[in-house]
Amino acid sequence: MSGKDSKGVVFLVGAGPGDPGLITVRGRALLDQADVVIYDYLSNPRLLSYCPRAETIYVGKKAASHSMTQEQINALLVEKAREGKRVVRLKGGDPFVFGRGGEECEALAAAGVKFEVVPGITAAIAGPAYAGIPVTHRDFNSSFTLITGHEKEEEYKESESRSRDAAVGSSDIDWASVAKLPCIAFYMGVKALPRICEKLMANGMSGETPAATIQWATTPKQRTVTGTVRDIVQKVAEAKIGAPAITIVGRVVEMRQAINWFESRPLFGQTIVVTRTRQQASALSQKLEALGARVIEAPTIDLAPPKDFTEVDDAIKHAAHYDWIIFTSANGVRFTRARLDAMERDVRVFGTADIAAIGDATAEAIRRELALHVNLCPDDFVAEALVHALQGHGQIAGHKFLLLRADIARPILRDQLKAHGAAEVRDVAVYETKPAENLPDELLTASDAGEVNWVTFTSSSTVKNFVSLLGSNYATKLKNVKIASIGPITSQTLRDLGLTPTIEAETYNVDGLVEAVAGK
Ligand code: SAH
Repeated sequence: MSGKDSKGVVFLVGAGPGDPGLITVRGRALLDQADVVIYDYLSNPRLLSYCPRAETIYVGKKAASHSMTQEQINALLVEKAREGKRVVRLKGGDPFVFGRGGEECEALAAAGVKFEVVPGITAAIAGPAYAGIPVTHRDFNSSFTLITGHEKEEEYKESESRSRDAAVGSSDIDWASVAKLPCIAFYMGVKALPRICEKLMANGMSGETPAATIQWATTPKQRTVTGTVRDIVQKVAEAKIGAPAITIVGRVVEMRQAINWFESRPLFGQTIVVTRTRQQASALSQKLEALGARVIEAPTIDLAPPKDFTEVDDAIKHAAHYDWIIFTSANGVRFTRARLDAMERDVRVFGTADIAAIGDATAEAIRRELALHVNLCPDDFVAEALVHALQGHGQIAGHKFLLLRADIARPILRDQLKAHGAAEVRDVAVYETKPAENLPDELLTASDAGEVNWVTFTSSSTVKNFVSLLGSNYATKLKNVKIASIGPITSQTLRDLGLTPTIEAETYNVDGLVEAVAGK
């Protein structure tokens, strides 16, 4: 083995069952350091945001091209490690629970490639937990069994190519013993469910034994049906539950009535579109998700530094000349900070100028990014309120203002300051915005399927861009969708386009918007 080869290593990392928060701390740290991440169908693609620098390779089913066989995956792991890469093999749930992780390790060991295993939370534990079903309970069971239904769903689908697979699967299940067990989780068991239930009853299990099937557990798409071993098949069929789903059989299923915490959160079952700039989306998304919503991010604007920094650099160099520096967005603050860093300057360029902000997120960014005190941040987060507040303090007439904003910022702030007698107003675009080119596939699919309940808008420009991305029949597409607006200016833009906001935030910020949506 050459010196270069010996650096290569493969980490088999359990991605957890779906909720990206359920990966382990070690798994996340390894993603952060990875050169290559090889992932499949059941590992949440959102986890890839933890490895922005890595090459990512999808090897699961439903690939645009054909998916890889297990042999090809094994060979890929060996190849990447031999190139000296740190490889993360990200697998849904736990890598060794019906995940073929053992086979991958065998192949790595045979090839002399170093590897480590990071366990994950498996679907049979997490799925029931998120359906309000504890897998053990002192009153009901002191054992808990994991079984694969093994009809070649999910990871096992390529198993035709493995001779030894013929020997495993249902044929090695001793149904007479299984039927006596007090609590069983069946993986890969949707298609096999009729046979499973039949075998259990034929071998003496009561048809009245409670059962639950949980699809897409721990994700916002989670759906659960409950019944008994006798009728769960019919209920699953009626609810059109398909893979991936876990079925749990046992008295513990009864606990769900009392402790179904996940599905009873206020926004559970709601699909909400978040239209924001790529850089901003996550705060709103996280808050909505925390209340149980399925969030689809539809970035409508991309932000970029100005193509030409002459104006920005000149303004920053002379910032101390102004009485007031005004920031109107957290992005403006971030781009200013980035430019200061690039110029090898710091906040001393602002001298003794006072600092004003529109919006508490902006004020927060000023404190965090620039470590500056915010002298003025009106309660209403609109330009008019800032002008009013400055006027109230006698701070406009004869004063000099520097506005560090977006290229598309509303001119009203500049115009009103001038109209009230400002001695100088310099309005500088510290960042540029350009409309996104496409809506994400996930949104188009959900929209066609009528799954979208809400669209949220946090600025006039997101409204305009989203509408133009939807195309000329935007009004028809939004007909059955509720619209949430962050404040009066955004609402007005919606009305100008013939759209009626269902709700408008009382406080014009992200928290206000979330509150308004959750209150509906
Ligand atoms: N290694 C994985 C299991 C892979 S086998 C683990 O430890 O969880 C694939 C099967 O796992 C699916 O057919 C389904 O039965 C189950 N499964 C995985 N993720 C699931 C989810 N989010 N919801 C329900 N079932 C899931």
